[in-house]
Amino acid sequence: MIKCEKALSIVINSIKGLGSEGVDVSSSLHRILAQDIYAQCDVPPFNNSAMDGYALKSTDVKGASYRFPAILKVIDDVRAGYVSKKRLKKKQAMRVMTGAPIPSGTDSVVMVEFTQRLKTGEGEFVKVFKTTEDEENIRLKGEDVKKGQGVLTKGSLIRPQEMGMLASMGINRLEVAKKLRIGILVTGDELVKMGQRLSRGKIRNSNTYSLTGQVLAVGATPVNLGIARDNKAAVRQKIINGINKNIDLFLVSGGVSMGDYDLVKDVLAELGSEIKIWRVAIRPGKPLVFGYIKGIPVFGLPGNPVSSMVVFEEFVRPAILKMSGAGTLFRPVATAIFAQSFKKTKGLKYFVRVRIENKNNKFYAYLTGPQGSGILKSLVLADAIMVVPEEISELKKGQRVCIQLLTDRF
Ligand code: AMP
Ligand code: MG
Repeated sequence: MIKCEKALSIVINSIKGLGSEGVDVSSSLHRILAQDIYAQCDVPPFNNSAMDGYALKSTDVKGASYRFPAILKVIDDVRAGYVSKKRLKKKQAMRVMTGAPIPSGTDSVVMVEFTQRLKTGEGEFVKVFKTTEDEENIRLKGEDVKKGQGVLTKGSLIRPQEMGMLASMGINRLEVAKKLRIGILVTGDELVKMGQRLSRGKIRNSNTYSLTGQVLAVGATPVNLGIARDNKAAVRQKIINGINKNIDLFLVSGGVSMGDYDLVKDVLAELGSEIKIWRVAIRPGKPLVFGYIKGIPVFGLPGNPVSSMVVFEEFVRPAILKMSGAGTLFRPVATAIFAQSFKKTKGLKYFVRVRIENKNNKFYAYLTGPQGSGILKSLVLADAIMVVPEEISELKKGQRVCIQLLTDRF
């Protein structure tokens, strides 16, 4: 049996990246960037007003107050999207809207709230009730990003904010990691297809669906390879079918433990696979298999619904992210205070399903109920996975624990 950390490093070190493709910004959400992005221009491209108000020279409103307002002549009205052709002389101002280019000859903007309009026979004036500092309420050219500056790095996840940032620099095409095709094959004589009647002794196939969700959530494409029955010929045939479906990574659920009908590892070996891992010191998920078949990474996942999901979470997800060139392979981690007591077997790393409660700004972790590897509800109720190291045999109430946060995506 291999230790968890060692098994994970065997997986991660053997996985290679898979190349990139071009996409438009509008279809880049949740893809992984395959190039560094440098700003091709300043953003914003010119100094502009951060407020609706009056652009003026700060020297013209020095000492202005409600009792002694400065009075300036308003010589133009500048809207966002237009440039004033006029130039300011002493004791003059221009009305500006948010986003309007700052007129030349002005150095600050006073908010409209600190002014009062004055219409006279000699034209329009404004009373200004406060002084301004140099550059006050002005958004400076390049204050967001400067031309030539590195803005996004290869391996980062594209979220809505990255899409907006790319658009603000005028970048429409970008290179992202290819979407991986992940084959999902489940095994078991007991499994009944969706929509079919349950006869005695049979159960529904849930792993195809939880794995499909996990694959989609990590930005890859699931390829459903169906159910193989528990005989070597059927498992062999389904695996060969799968390999021919142009998949980048193969998941086979069930049939990897010590039972008489756990055939997957043998069939993989007979088909010439290189088995790198079998059995890892974790709970749930101990019988995990990892290897390569015809150059394609293959995971044999334990059939128990929780084991299958936890092994995906801890091993398959980082492997898919590594193949996609992602800069971050793992979930965010935090610490919490364990609110219960818990006993475990020494020598195994445990992945315990917990929910997190915030009480007086302290985060407490509670078990989501019974932790059996067939109790899928333990994951349904979970916000996080509490990782309990091998050497520990007991957790006491109030102890600090490490949790992996299960955000829906990345
Ligand atoms: P196995 O790993 O094949 O020994 O299966 C372990 C347990 O998980 C057994 O109780 C199986 O019935 C169950 N199981 C296996 N595959 C699935 C599946 N696709 N969906 C739901 N349960 C499964
Ligand atoms: Mg089975």
